[in-house]
Amino acid sequence: MTQEEVFKQLTSHAKEYGFVFQSSEIYDGLSAVYDYGQLGVELKNNIKKYWWDAMVRLNENIVGIDSAIFMHPKIWQASGHVGAFNDPLIDNKDSKKRYRADVLIEDYIAKIEEKINKDIEKGKKKFGDSFNEEQFRATNPNVLRNVAKMEQVRARMAAALNNNDLAELRQIIIDCEIACPISGTKNWTDVRQFNLMFSTQLGNISDESGVIYLRPETAQGIFVNFLNVQKTGRMKIPFGIAQIGKAFRNEIVARQFIFRMREFEQMEMQFFVRPGQELEWFAKWKENRIQWHKALGLGDEKYRFHDHDKLAHYANAAVDIEFEFPFGFKELEGIHSRTDFDLGQHQKFSGRKIQYFDPETNESYTPYVIETSIGLDRMFLAVLSSAYTEEKLENGEERVVLRIPPVLAPVKLAVLPLVKKDGLPEVARRIMDDLKFDFNCQYDEKDSIGKRYRRQDAIGTPYCITIDHDTLADNCVTIRDRDTMQQNRISIDSLRDYISERVDYKNVFRKLHKID
Ligand code: ATP
Repeated sequence: MTQEEVFKQLTSHAKEYGFVFQSSEIYDGLSAVYDYGQLGVELKNNIKKYWWDAMVRLNENIVGIDSAIFMHPKIWQASGHVGAFNDPLIDNKDSKKRYRADVLIEDYIAKIEEKINKDIEKGKKKFGDSFNEEQFRATNPNVLRNVAKMEQVRARMAAALNNNDLAELRQIIIDCEIACPISGTKNWTDVRQFNLMFSTQLGNISDESGVIYLRPETAQGIFVNFLNVQKTGRMKIPFGIAQIGKAFRNEIVARQFIFRMREFEQMEMQFFVRPGQELEWFAKWKENRIQWHKALGLGDEKYRFHDHDKLAHYANAAVDIEFEFPFGFKELEGIHSRTDFDLGQHQKFSGRKIQYFDPETNESYTPYVIETSIGLDRMFLAVLSSAYTEEKLENGEERVVLRIPPVLAPVKLAVLPLVKKDGLPEVARRIMDDLKFDFNCQYDEKDSIGKRYRRQDAIGTPYCITIDHDTLADNCVTIRDRDTMQQNRISIDSLRDYISERVDYKNVFRKLHKID
């Protein structure tokens, strides 16, 4: 199966099993807006808990807030969003489809990268064990030509974006002979800037003064509360403020399922430091965040760092953590050194003094900020896409299994009486009642035990227990492991400890270090 087909299977699986639904589906859907179903919300909540506790429980110097989505419109002037939160867009005159100019160019670069990888694969096959990738990259003429081409296009795009040179962006698209994927033509309009913020009206004020925005990021809610939290929490620099919440962007290209949505959720943390120490903290956060990702066990090779080609006007360092989604490596999280830009701007626009008195240096200053910003929905997609596996079993049967890390699995335990009679359901119910506040459990007595196992595999339940006639005599149940499909006999009294040991967040948190 191609990657594209796997991705299609994954999205229909997500719908079929109640993870993600298209918004307003019975009205033919609303583009790039999604609803989370009964299992999706559990997975999402588990991811949130993993992030939140790793921030605010592990680190005594990080606290959380929950600020409102609506904010004073001046905030978005101060932050630069009104003036500059734009994407460069371009239309194809034949298909009438609209694209982000930089994304068209990035897709073109990704195709060249694919060619390079194919040549490397070919080399591997040809030379077998004696293959030396480094040497191959340094000498193979095809690879060298493609790398040079890729680097040249990347450098041109970075320069065009940095200089806000829209004509040059268009010229790159023309020079690279990029065609519209729908019409196949190269009949492009000029490149224009498009502001991504959604606006609405406040109360009964219908003129310009009543315009307010749906926040395009949660970060500003943290900055404008800096003094509130610092003072009431008696926080000492360095310290951080974390927040999870909705953000809204009127994305031009909305595709790839929940990767790019118009309404999505962010998990952001702003860490306030002494001026001059920001790059040191930036390096620490870079390390800390990759460790958080890797501790989940989705596969270390699925992550890579990507330095920004274009630094935002406020940043003096920025890196993305990219994840290998079914459609290639893409941004999952951004780590930015935002200098004192945000607090400085809010000081200017609000007229309030936003400074910190440092008792150690006896100085007042505007703190510098390191931001870590991850899309909850993208994290959800990373977990789901790496978990989705179609397997052929030894007996020739096939199964679809979601190998979700047990700590994040929506349902931890399925309780299955072998038959619907002979007192087995009663025992099963007693076990459910005993454990349901420790873990999310699901009771199922319908269909053959094999079918019930498949249903649980398909939603990623790490453990199933079967209550059979022997249970009545020996007080034991059969416990089946999702990944190995191995079955063991275990006493009912030891179930809680057995499962806790394997699904507890503590197992993952032990692998993490606090920031200091
Ligand atoms: P992109 O380049 O993909 O548009 P970005 O650089 O604009 O992303 P940031 O502004 O750094 O993204 O936002 C931080 C995080 O929020 C991103 O790493 C991503 O995980 C998430 N995110 C941003 N836009 C969206 C979206 N439209 N849908 C889902 N998640 C998003």
